[in-house]
Amino acid sequence: MRISDILRVKGERVVTVSPEADVTELLAVLAEHRIGAVVVARDGRVEGIVSERDVVRALADRGAAVLTEPVAAIATAQVRSVTRDAAVHDVERLMTERRFRHVPVIEDGALRGVVSIGDVVKFRIDELETERHSLEEYITGERA
Ligand code: AMP
Repeated sequence: MRISDILRVKGERVVTVSPEADVTELLAVLAEHRIGAVVVARDGRVEGIVSERDVVRALADRGAAVLTEPVAAIATAQVRSVTRDAAVHDVERLMTERRFRHVPVIEDGALRGVVSIGDVVKFRIDELETERHSLEEYITGERA
């Protein structure tokens, strides 16, 4: 199964924030959309990714002054992205090894979606359910 299978269900919408927006605005965006990370982009070009973890770390380091700093000051500039044809299992491994929970889907410089660890776990549960169902049918000889 491919990342495109996940995007077909969840859609290609990506929430972005400009690098000049301040951290308070970023928090409002995260809260409004009930998400844990946003892509930092300028004129459609990806310049980074910033997650709630970056905010927590910066707050622990520098205190409330962080809230008026630009998003670019706390974002990760080196974004690891994948393409739509990436295998879900490879992306799962990437997230586990690199310890991040979000991966933007970028093709020819254009954002095509974001996959979170939650999307991957949901996909895996659905996959295991289908497998279990097929095995049950195989063992009992019954078709539901
Ligand atoms: P997360 O687990 O996604 O909340 O992010 C943990 C850390 O990894 C934060 O510092 C993020 O800025 C960074 N991060 C998240 N996703 C990516 C990604 N796809 N590429 C590079 N860094 C990322």
